[in-house]
Amino acid sequence: MRLTPHTPAQPLLEIRGLNLDFGTPRGRIHALRNVSLDVPAGQVVGIVGESGSGKSTLAYTVMGLLAENADVTAGSVLFEGKDLLKLPFSARRSLLGDRLSMIFQDPMTALNPVRTIESQMIDIQHHEPGSRVAKRTHALEMLHRVGIPDPQSRISAYPHQFSGGMRQRVCIAMALLVKPALLVADEPTTALDATLEVQIIHLLKELQKQIGCSILFVSHHLGAVAELCDRVAVMYAGEMVEQGGVRNIFHNPAHPYTRALLECDPGRVKKRTRTLPTIPGEVPSLLGSKVGCIFRKRCPQAFDRCSYDNPIEHRLGVDQVARCHLLDKERLASA
Ligand code: ATP
Ligand code: SF4
Ligand code: MG
Repeated sequence: MRLTPHTPAQPLLEIRGLNLDFGTPRGRIHALRNVSLDVPAGQVVGIVGESGSGKSTLAYTVMGLLAENADVTAGSVLFEGKDLLKLPFSARRSLLGDRLSMIFQDPMTALNPVRTIESQMIDIQHHEPGSRVAKRTHALEMLHRVGIPDPQSRISAYPHQFSGGMRQRVCIAMALLVKPALLVADEPTTALDATLEVQIIHLLKELQKQIGCSILFVSHHLGAVAELCDRVAVMYAGEMVEQGGVRNIFHNPAHPYTRALLECDPGRVKKRTRTLPTIPGEVPSLLGSKVGCIFRKRCPQAFDRCSYDNPIEHRLGVDQVARCHLLDKERLASA
């Protein structure tokens, strides 16, 4: 049985059965368990889930930028048909800033504070042919496209001479300058205020259409995901619990966790209230092995089977899959 929703052509990125642990003095943290995900070419796929669900770990696995205590114990990450987990270090490194690029929550992660934007934007094009002058011109065009006013004079500035929102625009310009096939964005708008966030989301959407790349977009902000993404993957405590087209996930969620997450979304809360709702209970510890459904301690619909049987994926229509026993056809038929 296929583990992810069917997509017509070979996806650009295919993650299959990924298991990843972090070694810690307290034991092994199982941060990703049997995670599968497709990112089709030219599409934007959002990853949502509470803090600690493994979103960044998944994004960093794709980029090959994991911490030293990370240990991938099973699975594959096929990008353009090649398993990134099996590529030699040098081949993997040379994909970064070429076919694969990334935007971080904190733009300073990607920028060198002691070098001008100009030198960093020229260097990042090292895979491209052409003179330094041509690369500078290309950098100026990109700064203009991301809305940096007066790029001619701003290009010689240092990162700290830009505001937070402008720095994130510079990072987007740098990440897209190389025309990547896949842009991985980990909470790129979380540090920005609401107005700037809307601007950056619109900018990403416009540039993605122009460049035709795919985006893997990690965010806490469901409104931003709804605005930008074609598909959404929902993670909980290291597992992928539901995936599908953005409309289905937002209008017809099948997994109790997705429903709970949507009910807590500030954009959807109908009653005016000072305190936003949260999902009752806590995210479980990721130490040790797990039996049964990972969400059962917080699930309002949990029943006996959920405590001993780990749910498999069930397909809903052509475009949506979810891991929940409530969707088991045999159970539904006998109900
Ligand atoms: P957030 O929304 O807060 O960014 P996230 O969904 O991105 O959360 P991750 O950062 O991927 O979550 O973390 C997943 C789990 O792995 C968490 O329990 C986290 O504490 C743990 N973790 C992440 N990196 C390490 C590490 N290097 N060593 C040990 N544990 C780690
Ligand atoms: Fe809830 Fe059981 Fe479904 Fe898990 S499998 S989400 S506990 S009903
Ligand atoms: Mg994160």
